[in-house]
Amino acid sequence: MLIGFNGATTIKNDLLTDINIVQKLSYDALEIWSAKLYQYLKKNTVSDLKKILKRKKVRVWSINSIECITFQDDKTFAKKKRECKKLCEICADIGCKNIVVVPSPNPKNIKQSEIIKKSVDALCELSDIASKYNVNLAFEFLGFKDCSVNNLSLCNKIVKKVNSENVGVVIDTFHFYTGGSKLDSIKDVDANKIFIFHINDAENIPIKFLKDSHRLFPGDGIIPLREILFALKNISYDKIASIELFRPEYWEWQPEAVARIAKEKTLKILEG
Ligand code: ZN
Repeated sequence: MLIGFNGATTIKNDLLTDINIVQKLSYDALEIWSAKLYQYLKKNTVSDLKKILKRKKVRVWSINSIECITFQDDKTFAKKKRECKKLCEICADIGCKNIVVVPSPNPKNIKQSEIIKKSVDALCELSDIASKYNVNLAFEFLGFKDCSVNNLSLCNKIVKKVNSENVGVVIDTFHFYTGGSKLDSIKDVDANKIFIFHINDAENIPIKFLKDSHRLFPGDGIIPLREILFALKNISYDKIASIELFRPEYWEWQPEAVARIAKEKTLKILEG
């Protein structure tokens, strides 16, 4: 399994810092945080980025993320499509294969059939754009109660209905746990359709109070990571485990220290 580093982990640091960390600590791949990318592109070009990645031998696994892609009015969705096209162009240029796309909060009084339909429609439209660039869309369910797609089973159902080669799922252990996804639901997923696996842990507090800021280094919390990994192994998933922590406490640390500890702890979990 490759080990990835997600830029959210060091959200206060810039893209170049993330690239340097990935190189220095021999991570296998970087997941670029899009806000850092946009910041970088204010003063640099995609060609500059390409050169740096090549020089430092850093592989980019994904760009994170296009948020709230569903239940948008035409004007806002047109904006999402433009964002998708722009990120696809960059992906094609720098050799990145995946863009993470995220569902919107749940509108009131909506039936699940409607959530599925709207999600499939939005993903199909974006998929048409991304396929022109040979880029995948990795649909990431969020475990929060108010998110329209908050568990693996529903996410997988939607992706199956989209039935497009370039649309798959992200499994994030924090969202898997907080949304109450069942370990059993992993066996219904085609491993080839898991484009990214985000690994992280969470504090031992009631699920309803858990927020992104409660994420912890893998192994430091209560998420059953070994069981999740075992279930993934059973379906022969072995692509990437990418560390994604949104913990303000870690954002205050030296970024390299956070990335070093995160990698050590993740390897320990992966080795069982
Ligand atoms: Zn994630």
